[in-house]
Amino acid sequence: MAIESFNPHTGRVERRFRAFSWSKTEQVLAQAHRAFSTWRTTSFAHRAERMHRAADLLRERQQELAHLMAVEMGKPVVDGRAEIEKCALCCDYYADHAEQFLADEEIKTEAQHSFIAHEPIGVVLAVMPWNFPFWQVVRFAAPALMAGNVGLLKHASNVPQCALALEKIFHDAGFPPATFRTLLIGSDLVSKLIEDDRVRAVTLTGSEPAGAQVAATAGREIKKTVLELGGSDAFIVLADADLELAAKTAAQARMINSGQSCIAAKRFIVEKSILKEFVAKMKAHLLAFRPGDPLNEATQYGPLARPDLADELTQQVEDSVKQGAKVELPGGQSEPGTALFRPMILSRVKPGQRAYVEEFFGPVAIILEAKDADDAIRLANDSRFGLGGSVWTRDAKRGQELARRVEAGAVFVNSMVKSAPEMPFGGVKKSGYGRELSHLGIREFVNQKSIWVA
Ligand code: NDP
Repeated sequence: MAIESFNPHTGRVERRFRAFSWSKTEQVLAQAHRAFSTWRTTSFAHRAERMHRAADLLRERQQELAHLMAVEMGKPVVDGRAEIEKCALCCDYYADHAEQFLADEEIKTEAQHSFIAHEPIGVVLAVMPWNFPFWQVVRFAAPALMAGNVGLLKHASNVPQCALALEKIFHDAGFPPATFRTLLIGSDLVSKLIEDDRVRAVTLTGSEPAGAQVAATAGREIKKTVLELGGSDAFIVLADADLELAAKTAAQARMINSGQSCIAAKRFIVEKSILKEFVAKMKAHLLAFRPGDPLNEATQYGPLARPDLADELTQQVEDSVKQGAKVELPGGQSEPGTALFRPMILSRVKPGQRAYVEEFFGPVAIILEAKDADDAIRLANDSRFGLGGSVWTRDAKRGQELARRVEAGAVFVNSMVKSAPEMPFGGVKKSGYGRELSHLGIREFVNQKSIWVA
């Protein structure tokens, strides 16, 4: 894929970038590797000062960064600013807590003194997607840099300006340049990088095929990976739910980032007795979302990030309809090759249909009818994915019990699924493995070393 900023709203290429050669890539890797030997010896206070400064710079440049996202991948500027604020919070969070999360842990044994030390491991490669161009990277970079690792970013080929802007923020914040670098490379160089001994671990957020390929190469090289892949989150609405709130939140949860979020609610599993009313309410809320130019302050959803993603979503919908699904709310593309995709609702979704099996990475709500709560859990778990999920009921205790039965990395009761710096984030099944954020995220890429003093 060409490394270029293609504006999905105007259909114009804004900027093209020359991809790094292998020799330039290798040179950056060598610098990163050398930088690690010094960076690992710096104090937490030294790193934290820079990380807080990065948070300040993110806030200072919020508007400019939101603009970049709007023109590179179609995110409305209002949402772009919120994404940058969240990134700043994450930087502050790890600046404030990394030392405590990585403190030595005393363990009682027969030794005089025994403990676990958490030591940085070196160069970590991050392969990242375009849907949250800053957030996806910051939630890797903030803990990695605070732990004393150094980061190399291979960002998605359609968001090079976001990738370079983030690199500049870390450099302007005072991190030595080689501790965080953006590699303008296509996915073809990723395997070669993983095979290099100087790369110690890899984290990838993206599609299953990309995750599988990266993990296969890393597995051959005996290197740790964290994978955050797709999801088809269940949004379970029980008969005793606050229907108005559930339907309103369902529409918001499906429309996050024009539907292009791994934790967007995708399958709406609704008890039969309230299904008709729920769908009618959700339809009204979806229709109230205003599409438009992502640069316009009033726009609530923009185009999908690339026309090919919209074409693929249309194909998934058409195939599902041929297989028996019913269009409850028409929408979609106005013509092939264009990126705007209006929200849709599909009902009568049954096993074997693409809508039942696959992730729909855009604003298409899939409705599944459940006989009762047990049936809803069965349907929720009848998925290859397990990233997030939510349960809607006025009985919070019952909601909690049901939450335990959903096979997912996170389940929210009476709230949409979201990520927060304090809570671990990641999936089970084909949604991936490993955790980002919280104290668990920062411990993924450290050597948890046992030290025993006899
Ligand atoms: P990809 O998974 O192809 O892209 C994500 C990142 O992986 C990009 O940096 C990409 O680089 C890189 N990549 C792709 N293939 C390989 C490979 N074989 N080896 C190493 N790196 C690779 O996502 P797409 O943009 O194609 O989106 C397709 C689908 O992926 C979506 O419809 C959605 O289902 C899922 N997705 C999930 C995301 C999530 O948040 N979990 C985010 C984005 C997509 P390059 O851009 O250069 O190809």
